[in-house]
Amino acid sequence: MSSTASETTHKPQLPPNLASELWQRHAAQERKKLANAPTPVNSTAEISPEDRASFTEHLKSSTRVLALVGAGLSAASGIPTFRGAGGFWREYDCMTLATPRAFAKDPALVWQFYNYRRHCALVAEPNRAHVALAELAKKKPGFLAISQNIDGLCQRAGHPPENIQSVHGSLFSSRCTECAYVEHDNFADPLVPAFELPEHVDAADAKFPLKPIPLSALPRCPACRALLRPDVVWFGESLAVDAVARVDAWVRGDSEADGAKIDLMLVVGTSALVYPAAGYIHAARARGARIAVFNMEQPEEEGSTSRLKEGDWFFQGDASKLLPELLKEVVGEIS
Ligand SMILES: [Zn+2]
Repeated sequence: MSSTASETTHKPQLPPNLASELWQRHAAQERKKLANAPTPVNSTAEISPEDRASFTEHLKSSTRVLALVGAGLSAASGIPTFRGAGGFWREYDCMTLATPRAFAKDPALVWQFYNYRRHCALVAEPNRAHVALAELAKKKPGFLAISQNIDGLCQRAGHPPENIQSVHGSLFSSRCTECAYVEHDNFADPLVPAFELPEHVDAADAKFPLKPIPLSALPRCPACRALLRPDVVWFGESLAVDAVARVDAWVRGDSEADGAKIDLMLVVGTSALVYPAAGYIHAARARGARIAVFNMEQPEEEGSTSRLKEGDWFFQGDASKLLPELLKEVVGEIS
């Protein structure tokens, strides 16, 4: 283990390898879940012919389509979400690393966590669901995807930038902690030479000590030399104002001559419990949208604004199997 003072303050009272083992076990379970799909309930063969027909008919006739996409969209690409049970990186609970406080206390540690996440996203490939959504965006100009993902996989699948809005930032953007400088689409891996690791070292494995990295070797602002930080929304932070404004303008139909009717909303790979994302389901419904949910888990309990109503659809299973199948008549066969 590294002996930096900051680590002793962050470290929970666990044997050093336990958290890593828990994470490895969780990752193995996740991989097994993916490998086992399709189970009967996840199989697209389970889509009822009535649901398939009514959804397809509505999709074909829809002009303004809103989508809300979350971690489940990227699950089949093998991206770890670092959330919920098993949300550990090394011995650290990831929910405590993805905070402004953690960055203020130990920017080198938080940057190494994000460097690892960037690496995972860069070695992953967009899956068939990313491609199907990107194709839908090309076929329907009145389509906007609100993405809660920071992995860049929609963009790499060719999703036109004018048809997608990230609301949680991007692993490939950094911004200055002092001035207004923002850097977009930097896909260097590692981000700076100080993050380079020997070939055999897995940055997620706590048995390899983290390198102590001086502040001067962390990503720096080219304009003012202050520290850069990942341009992602951390726990306790608000969504970017311009991102929210763009989505709100689309929902209101500001640029539409004939009003703000929304025909269809796709909710993909997210439980949509988190506001303001969950609020978009409510807003879309208020503008006439029928809702189609594609998720491994059942929708929320009764009483939630996002609960399904008469005329909505729920397709249970892996988005990478469901979306290509259900969007096929509009986007064609996805290989
Ligand atoms: Zn700066």
